[in-house]
Amino acid sequence: MRALIVGAGIAGLVAARQLGVAGWSVDVLERAPGPRPEGYMMDFFGPGVRAAERIGLYPYLAQAAHRVRAAAYVDVDGRETARLDYEQFSALAGGNVLSLLRPDLETAALRALGDAPAGGIHLHYGCRAARVVQRPGAVALVAEDQHGQSRWFEADLLIGADGLHSRVREGVFGPESGWLRDLGMRAAAYIVAEPEINAGARHRFVLTDSIGRTAAYYGLRDGRVATLLVYRALPGDPHNARDRLRRHFTGLGATVDRLLQLCPQEPYDDVVAQVVMPRLSHGNTVLLGDAGGAVSLLAGQGGSLAVAGAAQLAASLENLEDPGWIPAALAGFSARWQLTVRSAQASGRRAAASFLPATRAGLLLRRWVIRSSSVPPLDRLIARRIVASLAK
Ligand SMILES: Cc1cc2nc3c(=O)[nH]c(=O)nc-3n(C[C@H](O)[C@H](O)[C@H](O)COP(=O)(O)OP(=O)(O)OC[C@H]3O[C@@H](n4cnc5c(N)ncnc54)[C@H](O)[C@@H]3O)c2cc1C
Repeated sequence: MRALIVGAGIAGLVAARQLGVAGWSVDVLERAPGPRPEGYMMDFFGPGVRAAERIGLYPYLAQAAHRVRAAAYVDVDGRETARLDYEQFSALAGGNVLSLLRPDLETAALRALGDAPAGGIHLHYGCRAARVVQRPGAVALVAEDQHGQSRWFEADLLIGADGLHSRVREGVFGPESGWLRDLGMRAAAYIVAEPEINAGARHRFVLTDSIGRTAAYYGLRDGRVATLLVYRALPGDPHNARDRLRRHFTGLGATVDRLLQLCPQEPYDDVVAQVVMPRLSHGNTVLLGDAGGAVSLLAGQGGSLAVAGAAQLAASLENLEDPGWIPAALAGFSARWQLTVRSAQASGRRAAASFLPATRAGLLLRRWVIRSSSVPPLDRLIARRIVASLAK
């Protein structure tokens, strides 16, 4: 059977590998010209870990993982105001937490494609899905390549794994305004070469202890620094992402100012939002990962759910003998998977209220919560809150 996957992010690549291993012929369309280098550090725990172990992806991920010892909040002078020990965080999250840079997670998923029989999976970078054509019992898609040429694809199954602003979702279920739940923040991420800052932030996430915005950075093992900036957009903000970030973050200390200086012209910068859908499938089309169930970085499980959802979808499809059974298999997957997505979304929404404190009282409360996490009797009480609200 033939599958067409739009989006070579984590969800799309893991679904491609699983279907390829099950003997499907798979085409993956990705609008970027190659694997995307952007993104910050993601905590990988919960359903994704169990799924990765089950499908044999875990060794690839463990190899790519970074060693994080602590998350440290600092003031404008770089002095630590609160610290969370990562072993403690890992224990609160039920153990087995991997810290993975988003592009490393994507690279690991790409490497794992080699587990499928040769010739079964075709990756088309620089190929943007433009229009879905629904047909009884099959799907077709018009795409555009890097040279502006139209290309026509047909398959038995279409998987929309094209992220928060999914074109497949728009074509099959309608405009994104009906499904996107904006959590009132934006998140930007980029990676820069800065050995000096790297040395001071090795093995620890450093986060600014600030009101209304949070800048976070982490020293990677190759000497570069991964930067994450979370903020609330304001009316009159500059259109250009770099100018906007400079407007919001200048003055949070010398390190942040230096990272702003090095910010690329157009870093990854998007709304922090969830996608809430009544169902994920329609006929032979299904939505996967952020496209159908984004939980937001506040839930801390985007990568984990991308892997777990892809594994579950492929498991629902692997024993089908006839393409006519696809719609029922997709509907079954949708009903089961939505339960997991809803629960992660609820935790993301709870975290949204406390993630960017709006006042000094809110900031002091967050400090107290983090400091109290080392007091054993309070561990259970605040575990959920810490896990949900720590910056990724
Ligand atoms: C560049 C980038 C940086 C990110 N950084 C972070 C981060 O720092 N922290 C965090 O928690 N989450 C981040 N995310 C989100 C995180 O990757 C997802 O929440 C999670 O991994 C689920 O992934 P996904 O595969 O469902 O979607 P995504 O990772 O968004 O992947 C979707 C893919 O589809 C492609 N695509 C979109 N439209 C089309 C189209 N019309 N035709 C063909 N291809 C298309 C995109 O280029 C992208 O590669 C980032 C996402 C991206 C794309």
